[in-house]
Order: sequence, then structure tokens, then C-alpha cells
Amino acid sequence: MIATLAAPSSLTSLPFRTISSFGSPSLLFRSPSSSVSMTTTTTTARGNVAVAAAATSTDALRKGIAEFYNETSGLWEDIWGDHMHHGFYDPDSSVQLSDSGHREAQIRMIEESLRFAGVTDEEEEKKIKKVVDVGCGIGGSSRYLASKFGAECIGITLSPVQAKRANDLAAAQSLSHKVSFQVADALDQPFEDGKFDLVCSMESGEHMPDKAKFVKELVRVAAPGGRIIIVTWCHRNLSAGEKALQPWEQNILDKICKTFYLPAWCSTDDYVKLLQSHSLQDIKCADWSENVAPFWPAVIRTALTWNGLVSLLRSGMKSIKGALTMPLMIEGYKKGVIKFGIITCQKPL
Ligand code: SAH
Repeated sequence: MIATLAAPSSLTSLPFRTISSFGSPSLLFRSPSSSVSMTTTTTTARGNVAVAAAATSTDALRKGIAEFYNETSGLWEDIWGDHMHHGFYDPDSSVQLSDSGHREAQIRMIEESLRFAGVTDEEEEKKIKKVVDVGCGIGGSSRYLASKFGAECIGITLSPVQAKRANDLAAAQSLSHKVSFQVADALDQPFEDGKFDLVCSMESGEHMPDKAKFVKELVRVAAPGGRIIIVTWCHRNLSAGEKALQPWEQNILDKICKTFYLPAWCSTDDYVKLLQSHSLQDIKCADWSENVAPFWPAVIRTALTWNGLVSLLRSGMKSIKGALTMPLMIEGYKKGVIKFGIITCQKPL
């Protein structure tokens, strides 16, 4: 997810982080810093109320995410194009890159992710015939992957506006026979088991209120031998004996959650543990925070250009609020609480 120039609409006051405090919804992440603690559903009356409250909160989050991307994707596309994810840069590289440099960095992010996941040669590429792009935005990655592999690619998003735009762009690029997009929930995917040779989630995991269910669905739809790629915003791994982030760290994340429709965060370690709970092989993760460092300053710079400012003002106060939250992402990275993580694995044959 890229926090677009506009802030969410009507739901900024929702207690997304407090999903955990409702008590015992099954398999919900309890807090950003509680590792993979997963709770069981209580059977008490109070527990049932808690489950109902959590379900309502999850529905509200889903609705908020859809509205957020309905409203802001056009603005992002106008300024930054069809990839709504970070670029991948050499550490400490100049931040004075041209616009096309940033687009290249976004493509490089996809290429580096494939390489990290083990799709390194023609033999591996040939095996990829069906791809799902989970949380597809307006389909930049899907169209790229379909063209690269000659594969069939399906993208899912919560935003009807994004799905339509993604399909229109596919048609404009004569790719409709290969690529299609639909509104669907990553936590309840409308696909049969074992369908996809490549399951790719590029910066959507941070939106998922139930990371265990998210991972379970990614694993379920992967074909035997299929590869799973999760590129996502995480908080830092907790050290041994540490139970939670520091309050000041949590405070930064809470502010970002409010503006950009994110539930509780987790760490890359948490993702690894979740993947380990399934029968998977070659589970790997890496911290690419240094590689994405030039990205946010560049986004802020474009927001401060004449075009950027005009678009921002046209979008109104909420957009401005969103833009004002961007420095918190930079602060979070600089202070080491936010990590840009990649986690990959393969489903055994
Ligand atoms: N992967 C895209 C877009 C990233 S923006 C790209 O790199 O360009 C985050 C995307 O995640 C949005 O499209 C949003 O609709 C989607 N998303 C968030 N929660 C989702 C969910 N529960 N189910 C499906 N898509 C979801």
C-alpha cells in the first residue's frame, strides 16, 4: 500500500488498533507488538459480543479501505502512475532521480521480489502460468507480470473504482485476454484451492486485520510448487523477552493507522511464524527498509510541486491531512520502528 496523497474519508476515528481489545475474535492479531498471539473464540455471552464487535470493526475497516482507494487512486495515478508501491533503490542512492527513475525503481521492486522468491531463470519463469495479485491497486503489477510471463493474471482489490480502472487499462494495452480484475476480499478469496503458480501481495498485507487468515488464504490458493510473495509494511522484530513496542513507537504507528486505514501491524518474524505453521518450504524474509528509503522524500517532493499542490488542494482537507502524515513514515523508518519487509516461500509439490 502506498499512502496516497488523500486521507481516508469518514472512518478515521474508528478504533482499528483496538480490534484486539474486543477480547477474543478467533485468530485475530491481538496487537502490533504481541507477536503471533492468536486467541480462541470465547463462548461466553461477553465473548460473543466481543466477536460481533470485532466483525463490525472489520467490516468498517474493509469499507474504509474501499472508500479510501476509490477516492484517491486517480490522484495517485495522475502523479505517480499505475504502481502503488515503493520503489527499490540502491541503499544511499541519490534522491534526485527523475520521475522515470522512480517508475523504474517500482518495476525493480517487482523484479527484486521475484528474484528473492527464487524466480531467477527461464526454467522457473516458464512454470508461472497463473498469477493472483492480492490487493492489486489499479493493476500495475498484474499487467507487468502477465506480460513478463505470458501468464494469466487475476487481480483482486476492495475498491470497485480500482478494479474498473485496472480492467480499462488492461483493455487499452490489449491485455484483457490475459489479465482481469475484480472486487474480492483477500481474506475470503473466490478461487479454488491450488490454482495459482505465483501468489503475489505487493503492499496490501498491512491492510489485513487478520494476518493468520490472510496467510492461510495465500497458502490455500497457491498451486503445489507455487511461490508466495508478501511485500509489506511491518514493525520491527521484537527482541527476546520484549513483549511490545515502546509506547513512543506505538504512538507513531497509531497515527499512521488512523490516516491510512491500517489495522494492527506485525513484524516479519510474525509472518515467518505464520508461514511456518503451514507445510511450506524455503521460507525466507528480508528487511528492505534501506532500499526504499529514497521513496517517501520523493513522494513528498512531488506533493510540493505546483501540480501536486493543486491536486492536493482540490482533493481537500483530508488529502492535506494524508500528506501531512507522510513525514511520519520517514520518521518511522529512520527510528527503526517501521520496516519494509519481504517474506517468500514455496508450496511443496
Ligand atoms: N499492489 C498494488 C496496490 C497496493 S495499494 C500495487 O502495488 O500497485 C493496497 C491495495 O490493497 C489496494 O488495492 C486495496 O484495495 C487492497 N486491499 C486492502 N485490503 C484488501 C482486502 N482485504 N482484500 C483485497 N484487497 C485489499
